[in-house]
Amino acid sequence: MNVSAHIEAVHAQVRRRDPGEAEFHQAVTEVLSSLTPALERHPEYVETGIVERLCEPERQLAFRVPWVDDHGDVRVNRGFRIEFSSALGPYKGGLRFHPSVNLGIVKFLGFEQIFKNALTGMSIGGGKGGADFDPRGRSDGEVMRFCQSFMTELHRHVGERTDVPAGDIGVGAREIGYLFGQYKRITNRFEAGVLTGKPVAWGGSHARTEATGYGTVYFAQEMLATRGHDFEGRRVVVSGSGNVALYAIEKVHALGGLVVACSDSSGYIVDEDGIDLELLKEIKEVRRARLSAYAEAKPTARFSARGTVYDLRCDIALPCATQNELGREDAVALIKNGVLAVAEGANMPCTPEAVQLFHEAGVLFGPGKAANAGGVATSALEMQQNAARDQWAFEETESRLAAVMRNVHAQCRQTAEEYSGTPDDYVLGSNIAGFLRVADAMSAQGIV
Ligand code: GLU
Repeated sequence: MNVSAHIEAVHAQVRRRDPGEAEFHQAVTEVLSSLTPALERHPEYVETGIVERLCEPERQLAFRVPWVDDHGDVRVNRGFRIEFSSALGPYKGGLRFHPSVNLGIVKFLGFEQIFKNALTGMSIGGGKGGADFDPRGRSDGEVMRFCQSFMTELHRHVGERTDVPAGDIGVGAREIGYLFGQYKRITNRFEAGVLTGKPVAWGGSHARTEATGYGTVYFAQEMLATRGHDFEGRRVVVSGSGNVALYAIEKVHALGGLVVACSDSSGYIVDEDGIDLELLKEIKEVRRARLSAYAEAKPTARFSARGTVYDLRCDIALPCATQNELGREDAVALIKNGVLAVAEGANMPCTPEAVQLFHEAGVLFGPGKAANAGGVATSALEMQQNAARDQWAFEETESRLAAVMRNVHAQCRQTAEEYSGTPDDYVLGSNIAGFLRVADAMSAQGIV
């Protein structure tokens, strides 16, 4: 069978077998559309059904999460854990708590995670999980009871050598704490390496909180350097105002750039003085309030409930909110305003149409599975520290993170050059480099 026909057959099977999972189909399409040159060089991967096996999760868990709210009413959510690939190590990937979570979204995230994790060069497989639970507006007690119920089911599937969850949207240090406490109580083990993203005081790694945002900026810095640019004096917009966005802003400022805007689901703020990170953290992390509170507190800022940060003139855009937030019109506006580089801090924030437009316009584009790999890479560093019952200094951990990001960037370029002659094609480079590492391990491990 020729390679294109093989890829199309796998693709058709995914669409037929998983109807209605739009985001999963999108993520699969994006990867498969890069793989032809790799499979032409490796016909053995076609013969052993590597692509077909990779598109089918090793295990998919969906479960009921019942809990009682502050009024004494019973609530029922749906929990998921998709154990996608263990070819390179224990399943690894975050948990997302958000009302939009469904099977297709968790599968898209798990699928992306396989290649992202492979690109880091560390020993971690791919997985993802979550629930359609909305932590917003819930008391700490409600969040705790939800997390305890979630872990009461999940504990039988996870473990430091089996499956290691972490945070994602809606899951931060508070949730990881409650999840860990319940796991410890049920298993009667202080198994530090079962979850990552723990607070530094009891088994967490320095720089894990900052890692995804910092890593995205390092990746953008590497891309810019290939054209003789850097962040100094550059105007930057960031979407989102969660963990990834906050630390992307911090690192851009440290490198001499100016972040003039960020957003949340209610709208966006513009502050021509540069976003005041301490104020933003206070509003989003302590008060857990909406972004309009920033403009109320700071006279130089304005809040807008309409439009997006991409309407603003900028040199660099860092989408750090959520999937498919940056569409065709946003890409057109960014290109018109002369954007130099776009690096995805979130998972799949740019639609395929937007990515195509960046490609055609020659805008440097860093796809999430490469650009945001710093978070999970630092999770793998946390696992190493837990296994050794050790804790490294912040500087030590951050310099390892920076080295991983430089390496991910170099791998993407070398692979893109080798397979397409175009080193700037980071989409093709990341997909093929990640795929080859996983495919090689799968080949060696037989048909499992
Ligand atoms: N949720 C993050 C991601 O999308 C981090 C996962 C982890 O640290 O395991 O990569």
